[in-house]
Amino acid sequence: MGKMSLDNKLGLDRFNIDQHNPHITINDGYDNKEKINLLVMACPAGLYQYENGKLSFNHEGCLECGTCRVLSKGRVVKSWSYPVGGKGIEFTQG
Ligand code: SF4
Repeated sequence: MGKMSLDNKLGLDRFNIDQHNPHITINDGYDNKEKINLLVMACPAGLYQYENGKLSFNHEGCLECGTCRVLSKGRVVKSWSYPVGGKGIEFTQG
C-alpha cells in the first residue's frame, strides 16, 4: 500500500461540526508574530492562518490534539474546550 498523504489520512476522519459553538476561540488582535507563526506551524490540521499580518482561525477540521492550548492558551488562544457531546472529530484510523 502506498504512503498516504496527510490530507488523505485526515479524509478518513469524520467530523460533526458544531458551527454555532466553536470550541476554540482566539484573540484575533494578538500581534506577536513569532508566537503566532509557532502556532501556524504546530497545528497539524493547518487551521491557523497568518497572512499580511492578519490572523484567522477556523475550528472546523480540528483534531482536538490540544497542541494550540498547550502552546498558546492565554495568548493567541482565548478559550479551548472539547466540543460538546457528539460534536467534533471521530477518529477512524490512527
Ligand atoms: S487542537 Fe490541535 S488540531 Fe485543533 S486547532 Fe489546536 S492544534 Fe489545531
